[in-house]
Parts: sequence; structure tokens; C-alpha cells
Amino acid sequence: MSAFDPERHITNVDYKIVAALEKISEVFRVLLWTEAKEHKLSPIQMQLLIFIKYHNSDKQRRIAAMAREFNLTKATISDSIKVLEQKGLIQRSDDALDSRSFNFSLTDQGMKLTGMIENFTLPLDGAIATLSPLQKEQFLAAVLDLIYRLNQNGIISTQRMCYTCFYYSGDRQQTHYCHLMQKALVIDELRIECPEHKTGK
Ligand code: SF4
Repeated sequence: MSAFDPERHITNVDYKIVAALEKISEVFRVLLWTEAKEHKLSPIQMQLLIFIKYHNSDKQRRIAAMAREFNLTKATISDSIKVLEQKGLIQRSDDALDSRSFNFSLTDQGMKLTGMIENFTLPLDGAIATLSPLQKEQFLAAVLDLIYRLNQNGIISTQRMCYTCFYYSGDRQQTHYCHLMQKALVIDELRIECPEHKTGK
């Protein structure tokens, strides 16, 4: 039995969804490779540049934290970081909170390059833009729920989403409340990458 057996799709919608998600992951893989190749980067080097650009907290920019983020070993991240440093795209500085760690930030050259590569998902963005507001809402609700379940199963390691946040209360279906902002959230206000996220759930 496999989600990749087309015969199974006739009677099992779960397998069909898994196979469909695999197609979407293929889109990411192809778009990432195409863009990375054009700029003589590896996909993970490209992902690290984008991650460093948008995650300002010192804790998130440590090798160990980035290894957790991308579900890779510290050695793999460390190797990629070294290459990015050699290319003059990132620079390291001492970690103010931990003398054994370093933090990494983009150089001017790194910032310029990241600005060129960070929109590699444009074809996917365009396709999603054609969905109706209701389709988007239903899709977002289903994807957030799936990510939460995978996080609880230990498949996805770090998430800064509302459902795993200390400030969140609700049923993850109809009612959602953020105690930090002290307001109810509608589905499209739920966050997948919230800078204010606090672990504790
Ligand atoms: S702080 Fe951010 S992640 Fe936490 S519940 Fe509020 S909006 Fe969601």
C-alpha cells in the first residue's frame, strides 16, 4: 500500500492528498533549484540567506537554531555558512548571549543578492492568487491544521505558528484568540511565522 499507487487514489482520498502534496513539494524543489543554480548557490545556501534576512533575533541566527529550522545537521549548516562567508554574502559577529556561539548577518552584497532570489516562489504565488477568498481560507485552515499535527508528531521541528503559541487560545477550528494582542483572530489573521511567538504550548 502506498500513496503513490494510483489505484489506491480511486478509493482513498487520504492517499490522493498525500500525492497532491508531493506534487506541490516538487514545485518548491524545482523553483528553488532553478533560482539557486542561476546564482551559483546550493538550495540550502539560498534558503539560509533568505532566513537570515527575515529573522533578526540573535538566537535564531545561531548554527544550532538554523539546523533545527531546516531539519539538517549542524555540520551541514556550518559548511554552507562557511561558503556564504567566503563569497562575502554573510558576516559573523560574537553572540552577546552565548560566548560559544556566533551570529550571522547579511553583508551589503548578500542583501542585494537575497533581494534578487527571495521571490523564487512567484509562479506559485501567482497560482494561489487565482483562488477565490473562500478557497484560500479553507486551504489555509487545512494547511495550518496539518502543520500543527506534524509538529505535534515531531515531524516538523520548529514552528512559530499561533497554534503552538503560549498566547493562543481557541479550538483550532472556529475560535482563535491572541492574548498578546487581546483580540479574536479570524482564520486569515492566524500566523505561521509570528515574531511575537512564545513557546509554551
Ligand atoms: S503572539 Fe503571534 S503567534 Fe502568538 S497567538 Fe498572537 S499572533 Fe499568534
